[in-house]
Amino acid sequence: MTNPLHDTLFAPQEGREEAFLHLPGGDVMTHAAFAARAAKMAGALVGAGLKPGERLACQIAKSADALALYAACARVGVVLLPLNTAYTAPEIAYFVQDAEAALLVCGPGDADVLGPVADSAGARLMTLGPDGDGTLAQATDAASPASPVARDGSDLAAFLYTSGTTGRSKGAMLSQDNLLSNAHTLADAWRFTRDDTLIHALPIFHTHGLFVAVNVTLTAGGSTIWLPKFDAAAVMAAMSKATAMMGVPTFYTRLLAEDGLTRDATRHMRLFVSGSAPMLPETHRQWTDRTGHRILERYGMTETNMNTSNPHDGDRRPGTVGLPLPGVELRICTPGTADPVPLGETGMIEVRGPNVFRGYWRMPEKTAAELRPNGWFITGDLGRQDADGYVTIVGRDKDLVISGGFNIYPREVEEVLDGLPGVLESAVIGVPHPDMGEGIVAVIVPDGTPPDEDTLREAVAGRLARFKQPRVYVVVSELPRNTMGKVQKAELRKVHAGAFA
Ligand code: ATP
Ligand code: MG
Repeated sequence: MTNPLHDTLFAPQEGREEAFLHLPGGDVMTHAAFAARAAKMAGALVGAGLKPGERLACQIAKSADALALYAACARVGVVLLPLNTAYTAPEIAYFVQDAEAALLVCGPGDADVLGPVADSAGARLMTLGPDGDGTLAQATDAASPASPVARDGSDLAAFLYTSGTTGRSKGAMLSQDNLLSNAHTLADAWRFTRDDTLIHALPIFHTHGLFVAVNVTLTAGGSTIWLPKFDAAAVMAAMSKATAMMGVPTFYTRLLAEDGLTRDATRHMRLFVSGSAPMLPETHRQWTDRTGHRILERYGMTETNMNTSNPHDGDRRPGTVGLPLPGVELRICTPGTADPVPLGETGMIEVRGPNVFRGYWRMPEKTAAELRPNGWFITGDLGRQDADGYVTIVGRDKDLVISGGFNIYPREVEEVLDGLPGVLESAVIGVPHPDMGEGIVAVIVPDGTPPDEDTLREAVAGRLARFKQPRVYVVVSELPRNTMGKVQKAELRKVHAGAFA
């Protein structure tokens, strides 16, 4: 009997008395203790009537038990559906109903609000708190370990809903093989071993924190410093005991604001990885100046796991997402066609490989529109590839601005703005314009005193063709971002919709 996900990630750790999770407060959970807890939690899930292939939705705080739930689901073939802890009850209701979850697991304090949500979706409700509390934790304490069930690599391991940056979140169906192929590829590409200790400050409801960070660590048999959330001081303190960190770009900008960030403070670390949102080349350079480390930026998405990565050994180029990972094919096509563009030109990034998902749950039309029958997935990201293979993302197809018939890539304009004195960062959007179709609005976060608008206009005029120049400038104190550090351009477009009205 086999169950590839369980057999590969979790079973090899059973009985190992080495550290797996360094928990807040100083407790250490060994691999053996974690595996034992997960086996009992699997027993509790079976006891609650869950069957292989059924969906378990959860909205829970990050903790050792929250991670054990992933291992427990893998063990007994339950499809895990982790949900953003920021979602409100009506949002949770949508996901639980859409996925037809058999069980909803929430924090003990949320049971009153989410009980009716589970009821109306025909799901059961259990609770799991961060301190070994909740009804599922109690059932786990009392349960006998469940035996692993037989699963095939093509069986679903998880439903992961996309971040909803460009529209309503879609449920990406990920098979065991999707996850495992990427876990092996990344552990190998980034040279993870048993000796690695990863600073884990990411949420575990998203592919970055759950599948990239956890699966890579488990594939290698290493350990993590398990932080409930990102806290700059806690991460700084962890660096003297850790070897690697995976973070979103905002982790890095916030750490750069710490006086203690020096070569000495990062001496024990061997690798810093960034992804989930674009990292400014300036952040990359500042990090190198302060620490001597070159951040390794990679690119992926919920539907595909990771697609490209800067090399472990070799040139890590700021502003690029590196090279296609081994086993992942990547091509750049003219948007709306399957025709590759000439080398170096910008187009739609498509990827194909064992990492690519099985389709969107109950969205056959969307699946057909984005996943070609021959396996190529149309990512929705625009980019280009250099002669030596490096990929640069220029933005999302949905953020492309078309003004007066011209295509404007917001990132090109943002890069110019970000380089101007007095500008910390910027977001460029297109909003309805009576003559031009769309007009360009630049939303600017100042670096200290807000720059004078005429000075900005003049500086931009010297660098960008007229059709690319923003018509309206707005100064804000910060850009709207979600928990993964992604700028919410849809929200900005809504707020500034009347700029040319
Ligand atoms: P939705 O699909 O619901 O609109 P989303 O695409 O933001 O949301 P995710 O799957 O979490 O949801 O994010 C994947 C996207 O994140 C990619 O398509 C890409 O646009 C962006 N991304 C990830 N890594 C990078 C990176 N290193 N540089 C630039 N963009 C990145
Ligand atoms: Mg997406």
